[in-house]
Amino acid sequence: MRKTAGQPAVIRWSYSVRMSPDVRTDLDAIPSYVPGATVPGAVKLASNETTAGPLPSVAAAIADAAAGVNRYPDITAGALVSRLSEFLGIPSRNITAGCGSVALCQQLVQAVCAPGDEVLYGWRSFEAYPIIARIAHAVPVPVPNRADGTLDLDAIADAVTGRTRLIFVCTPNNPTGPAVSHAELTAFLDRVPERVTVALDEAYYEYVRSEDPVDGVAESMARPNVVALRTFSKAYGLAGLRVGYLTGPADLITSVGKMVVPFSVSSLAQAAGIACLDAGDELRARTDAVVAERTRVRDALIDLGHAVPESQANFVWLPLGDAAAEFDSHCRGHLVVTRCFAGHGVRVTIGDPVENDRLLDAARAFVTGT
Ligand SMILES: *Cc1c(COP(=O)(O)O)cnc(C)c1O
Repeated sequence: MRKTAGQPAVIRWSYSVRMSPDVRTDLDAIPSYVPGATVPGAVKLASNETTAGPLPSVAAAIADAAAGVNRYPDITAGALVSRLSEFLGIPSRNITAGCGSVALCQQLVQAVCAPGDEVLYGWRSFEAYPIIARIAHAVPVPVPNRADGTLDLDAIADAVTGRTRLIFVCTPNNPTGPAVSHAELTAFLDRVPERVTVALDEAYYEYVRSEDPVDGVAESMARPNVVALRTFSKAYGLAGLRVGYLTGPADLITSVGKMVVPFSVSSLAQAAGIACLDAGDELRARTDAVVAERTRVRDALIDLGHAVPESQANFVWLPLGDAAAEFDSHCRGHLVVTRCFAGHGVRVTIGDPVENDRLLDAARAFVTGT
């Protein structure tokens, strides 16, 4: 092959027979995670993100950390964990940070499940649960929600078998919205054998304003088989940076930590997480605005005839059944991107008032057929 000075040689591979390397034979059974769509020029209410960008103090911390990205991050996220320890009022040994709480869900399944063990969860719920269970060679066991979109904790407890190792309780539940009450959770946890780990997925914890709320971190300190998952992606507005945390019994935290992809919590994410906690009430005030809009949007959708469950998160659920796809594409036509679960319903993130008005205009036009 002739090589001209300054140009790399072009190598052409040719095979008479093409063979693919062997991969797992069960991959076809693992669905891919479907992210919310981003459509240029449209209002995006599909991924439960916050509309406003990071606070100036958080953006400054990220910029400062950017100057140091030639170095590997602290593999233990030590400074973030100790800031969380102070913030949550629990020891550092009961906390581990992860590359988003979804990574911690995956580490948790890997840490507690042997191949063939069962992972229980209400359904619909967070669509990552069945995927990560299968990735870990575990068996996903969905338990249908009640008709009003609440988790059926009695049915979940009834579904525990000798093979069950892990139960995800998503509260508030994504995508339907309701939260479990403390009394319901206590009755449930009292029924679950202690050898089974219960993971309280509190990705939307900061939006809860219910009467008898669950505090997953407190539960995870009080029970030997309970862990809590929280994230900086939703209320704290850091979805693009990927950082969340898990709290629970120290031994379990150590086991979950062993499953981590080394250095997966970046130095930018660690610095931003600390800055969010340092920002104190500022971020909590933003959640109050979303909560007020949540009530307004839900009421308006109910007026339009939708049976919207009471949501404790930053989204609402429209149980449209077979009309879900039609509603979703109608909204897309009005440049509002929602999240469609075909045949079940549509989840709509609560954005700022202008965005929410766009959604409500589209929903009204759906009724009038315009
Ligand atoms: C968004 C979400 C998460 C994941 O958040 P990360 O961005 O990975 O921290 C986890 N659980 C539920 C239920 C969610 O909706």
